[in-house]
Amino acid sequence: MIRIHKPKMPPEKLAIDGKLKQQELCNLYSQNPSLYETGTKRTQAEKKTIQKFNFASSIYGHPTVKQELIKAQHKKCCFCESKIGSDGDVEHFRPKGAYKQGLRQLQYPGYYWLAYEWDNLYLCCTGCNQRYKQNLFPLQDTTKRASNHTHSIDDEQPLFIDMGKEEPSDFIGFRGEFAYEINGNQRGKIAIKSLGLNSKERAIVEKRLEHLASLKIFADLVDLAASEPSNIALQDLAKQAKDMLDAAILDNAEFTAANRCAIDSKFQYVIG
Ligand SMILES: [Zn+2]
Repeated sequence: MIRIHKPKMPPEKLAIDGKLKQQELCNLYSQNPSLYETGTKRTQAEKKTIQKFNFASSIYGHPTVKQELIKAQHKKCCFCESKIGSDGDVEHFRPKGAYKQGLRQLQYPGYYWLAYEWDNLYLCCTGCNQRYKQNLFPLQDTTKRASNHTHSIDDEQPLFIDMGKEEPSDFIGFRGEFAYEINGNQRGKIAIKSLGLNSKERAIVEKRLEHLASLKIFADLVDLAASEPSNIALQDLAKQAKDMLDAAILDNAEFTAANRCAIDSKFQYVIG
């Protein structure tokens, strides 16, 4: 995960159509709030009668919105940093339809009023979105949760790291291909576990290792060249290797966060 810098101005589709749709949803909710709420006193049967909002993916997932996200995120998943090109899902950081605090049941409504909110949208790979993140949005203190559009989200203390507002490398580091929570911090730990960033069932850990192992060869080549300054052919190769290492720490590289940690720690944890 790396910091994501989206343009401040939302794409026009969100600013116009999204705004109208948001108003429509807020009005619907205000007319009869209890219709949309899980509540605490409902029976199982009553829970089945919860009214669910309809969301227009043609607005939040509009090609112009997606294109802006693809550009800001360098064609990568916001969570695992795999390259996804234009295949990713538009992910709602605060879930639009319903939310979950950990393993508990789905709670309705979700953050319906943020369904078309630019700050709340990211691009995400299908693995991270559909298998891991889903409706999860745990808070430090659940009593502070904004449960409808009249509440402020500013009082919430989300346990997930918001890549658009916070610096993920303050919370998550990498030792080789594995992510770890810096100084045992809770938010890093929750992100790694909930998003499956170290999951053996996913290809990303292996892909990260392959990637880091190649970078390690480049670093070895640079070191070797330093000890043989008169070997012109080796110097040329080392220059190319150095360029590859420099490119790997840029925001547009695949697995930038892991690359940066590996290079900073001189590949001490990369055993490949
Ligand atoms: Zn992902």
